[in-house]
Amino acid sequence: MTANTVKQNIYEQIQKRNPGEVEFHQAVKEVLDCLIPVLERHPEYIEAGILERLVEPERQIMFRVPWQDDKGNVHVNRGFRFEFNSALGPYKGGLRFHPTVNASILKFLGFEQVFKNALTMLPLGGGKGGADFDPKGKSNNEVMRFCQSFITELFRHLGPDTDVPAGDIGVGGREIGFMFGQYKRLRNEFTGVFTGKGLNWGGSLIRTEATGYGCVYFAEEMLKTRSENFEGKVCTVSGSGNVSQYTVEKLNQLSAKVVSLSDSNGTVYDPDGIDDEKLAFVLDLKNVRRGRIKKYAEKFSVEYLEGKNPWGIKCDCAFPGATQNEISENDAKTLLKNGCYLVAEGANMPSTPEAIEQFIADKILYGPAKAANAGGVAISGLEMSQNSLRLSWGRQEVDEQLRNIMIAIHKQCYEASEEYSRPGNLLMGANIAGFVKVANAMLDQGLV
Ligand code: GLU
Repeated sequence: MTANTVKQNIYEQIQKRNPGEVEFHQAVKEVLDCLIPVLERHPEYIEAGILERLVEPERQIMFRVPWQDDKGNVHVNRGFRFEFNSALGPYKGGLRFHPTVNASILKFLGFEQVFKNALTMLPLGGGKGGADFDPKGKSNNEVMRFCQSFITELFRHLGPDTDVPAGDIGVGGREIGFMFGQYKRLRNEFTGVFTGKGLNWGGSLIRTEATGYGCVYFAEEMLKTRSENFEGKVCTVSGSGNVSQYTVEKLNQLSAKVVSLSDSNGTVYDPDGIDDEKLAFVLDLKNVRRGRIKKYAEKFSVEYLEGKNPWGIKCDCAFPGATQNEISENDAKTLLKNGCYLVAEGANMPSTPEAIEQFIADKILYGPAKAANAGGVAISGLEMSQNSLRLSWGRQEVDEQLRNIMIAIHKQCYEASEEYSRPGNLLMGANIAGFVKVANAMLDQGLV
């Protein structure tokens, strides 16, 4: 069978077996399309059924999460954990709490996580989980009760050498704390079973900043291939959560000018730049007061683009940091028309396949999520090491490790793109380099 037939068969099979799960199909198709030349060169991957195994999670857990609101009303949410692949280490990946969460979303995220984690070069398998719970507008106590109920079921599947969750959309330090507390109580064990923990109880310095900082370090490496840096570059950032906040902070440190942030209601456009003082307002607004980004426009008297994303704003570099499929084909065309020549993905799968096609055809610097946003999980890997060693490294030391990891990820992707005759195509490079690591470990470990 030719590599192309194998690819077609697998793609048809996952569509049949996972009907209607369009985001999962999208993530698998992207990887399969990039792997054709690898399969042509390495028939052993086809013979061992590596791809068939990779697209089927090792284990899928789905459960009821009942909880009571402050008025005593009962609610039921659906909880999930997709333990995708453990060839390289314990299952590792975040939990997402958002009303749109379903099997398709979490399978796409879990599948991506496998390759992303491989790129970090740390001993991490891949998984993802979450619930269709909406933390927006809930009290602290409601969030705590939900987290406790969620873990009362999930805890039996977790463990520091088995499955180590972290945060994702809707899950930050507060939620990790509540879940860790409940896990500890049920197991009667204090272990590093979650990452993104508080700094005073086993968390790692720089974990909060890691995804955003890492994305900018990766983008810096992309710019270096054209002998450029961030000084004076106009950047648009979407989202206003953890990833976006620290993307802005690092871009400011590198003398770029960030002109936008957004949330699901709209975008703020600040042509003077979101400096550190304004960013402090955003951190308080989003992380403490849990308000909407519109408040920024009111506070600093800047333009608010109701219901719009930032991709219509002229920029040199774009940092999608919000969510999947937030850059459509038209958005991509607008970005390119306005002269944008670098896109680094802080969110997971933020560009639609049609948008990616535009970026690749235009040969701009395109940093795909599984490479560009791997900094978060990389520092999670370091948090696990610190917990095992029962020590903690200093801020500068962790930041340096993060930077070195992002440089190494860029190098691996670039080299793989050259090896397969598509120099500079980091989409192919990331998928190939991640896949080869996982596939070789699977070959070594036999048919499991
Ligand atoms: N949710 C993050 C990601 O998409 C972090 C996962 C982790 O630290 O385990 O990579």
